[in-house]
Amino acid sequence: MSAQVIVQPRGAQRVLQGHPWIFRSDILESGPAKPGEIVEVFKASRDRPQFLGQAFYNPQSQISLRIITRGRDLIDAKFWEKRFLEAIQRRKKTGRLVFGESDLLPGLIVDRYNDVVVFQILTLGMELSRETWIRLFQEILQPQAIVERNDPVVREKEGLPRQKGICWGGLPAPLEIEEGGFLHLVDPLEGQKTGLYLDQAENRIAIRPYIRGRVLDLFCYQGGFALSISKQAEEIIAVDSSGPALQIATKNLERNQVQNVQWVEANVFDYLRQCYEKGEKFDAILLDPPPFVSGRKDLSKGEKGYKEINLRAMKLLKPEGILVTSCCSQNFTEALFYSMLLEAARDTRRLVQVVEKRGAASDHPVLLSFPESFYLQCWILRIL
Ligand code: SAH
Repeated sequence: MSAQVIVQPRGAQRVLQGHPWIFRSDILESGPAKPGEIVEVFKASRDRPQFLGQAFYNPQSQISLRIITRGRDLIDAKFWEKRFLEAIQRRKKTGRLVFGESDLLPGLIVDRYNDVVVFQILTLGMELSRETWIRLFQEILQPQAIVERNDPVVREKEGLPRQKGICWGGLPAPLEIEEGGFLHLVDPLEGQKTGLYLDQAENRIAIRPYIRGRVLDLFCYQGGFALSISKQAEEIIAVDSSGPALQIATKNLERNQVQNVQWVEANVFDYLRQCYEKGEKFDAILLDPPPFVSGRKDLSKGEKGYKEINLRAMKLLKPEGILVTSCCSQNFTEALFYSMLLEAARDTRRLVQVVEKRGAASDHPVLLSFPESFYLQCWILRIL
């Protein structure tokens, strides 16, 4: 029999509304429950505790319970297999196959690049099923290689070690995927995230109709946006601070026989200032920075960062210029981003049209009752 955990009505309320997390402060009794174990969760009540579902338990993490099911299902390898198949059936061939809580698989991320599977496990409970997952990837996806990118810092909050490596098979060299008619090299071991920013895949294609003339692609990583818009733009300058990312970007250009992109290794904040001092002008600017806000504590510092780059970009745009501005800080809400943009527009005395407001690609679905899964905003603006 599984251990039982009793939670405060406050925590229970969130779960009843569909949220998958219960915080440590909402736990009243955890009895003999052990870290990583699957437990039964009950709402405290004077007469009879109300059953809420089954969850991963980890008292070491602030997020001590992660709901797996609201039912009394037997959670075994068959159960995970069914959830995995459901996640796969929601998607196309390449890209993100599993997006954690949004696919009802708490703490599991699975990306596929052709025949290579790259996964991340971010919760202790899921870690205990690691071998089951590797077997499921082998049986269901029949990949050429399985890579773990269990190096994100959040693993430490669950008391898990940070590690990465090939768990099975061998990597093709080079590994390259097709996206919107271009080939992109992927380095699942050394690249950022699991190799590519798959969350921006659809946006890289969606912005094409707005692009022409002279373009700045800022925080370009391996040049995903630059490549995608290389037919629409006359000239692209793409900037990133990561040398290794730009090395791959250069190879991407050659492989795709694209000639109108120039790579610059620089800090975007400095680069924008220099462009302003030189009086440069652009027809479109893309901003895709790393998260500037990681928690509520650095909201105002992050806000300053977003405002600085957006304001400077607005100043560099010709009339009718296009600004594609993204934000991947989950705490920096749409409302906050909106007011930051409004302030930047006021300071530059430009009128700004919102042309499109986009999110992450459709293989990163947002679970309505789990706002944490809504983290990526991509606004397409016209600066009049
Ligand atoms: N647009 C990319 C993803 C960008 S991720 C794509 O579509 O694939 C953010 C990038 O910003 C990373 O490549 C990181 O190396 C870079 N970066 C972070 N801080 C930076 C800074 N201050 N100046 C320049 N680049 C920076």
